[in-house]
Amino acid sequence: MMNKHATVSELTAAIRDIPDFPKPGILFKDITPVLSDARLFSSAIDQLTAPHKNSHIDAVVGIDARGFIFAAATAVRLGAAFVPIRKKGKLPYKTIEESYDLEYGSNTIAMHIDALKPESRVLLVDDLLATGGTAAAAIRLLKRMNANIIEASFLVELGFLKGRERLVGTPIRSVIVF
Ligand code: AMP
Repeated sequence: MMNKHATVSELTAAIRDIPDFPKPGILFKDITPVLSDARLFSSAIDQLTAPHKNSHIDAVVGIDARGFIFAAATAVRLGAAFVPIRKKGKLPYKTIEESYDLEYGSNTIAMHIDALKPESRVLLVDDLLATGGTAAAAIRLLKRMNANIIEASFLVELGFLKGRERLVGTPIRSVIVF
């Protein structure tokens, strides 16, 4: 019988490479095969939550859109709140915003001004760290909100893009590094 928990190598093997998506030259890491397998999805959330069982996280902040999937499940497991950082124009109440360049294109992200209490212990979660532009903008937003950023966690990190170097000062953890 297969073990209840999947290993990191099983998670790694499940990530599907899609060449030239959404633009020529981009090797897209498709995480949907992890989601569509209950055992793999649960194990991915285990990996994201295990280091933070005793971190007293108040809120898990997820980045639009695939980050929401992992951040929301992580929040429930940790007994923490979930806070979305969305693409500009989607949140209905008053927001603060930050702009950044993406591996493909550029973007502005936004967060509700009342989403976090000052000094909240925050875990930032996204599916993938590429150039680090998205996470750096999210970190700038969180700092403007006076959040206490405990860590930024990613299911996947594209190490060769050196995104970590743009996030100096914030502890970074990735489950899978390519
Ligand atoms: P970056 O700002 O360059 O770190 O890009 C991170 C964001 O873009 C994440 O939210 C990812 O979902 C997405 N992303 C960037 N590059 C890729 C890639 N090669 N495969 C899958 N998603 C990517």
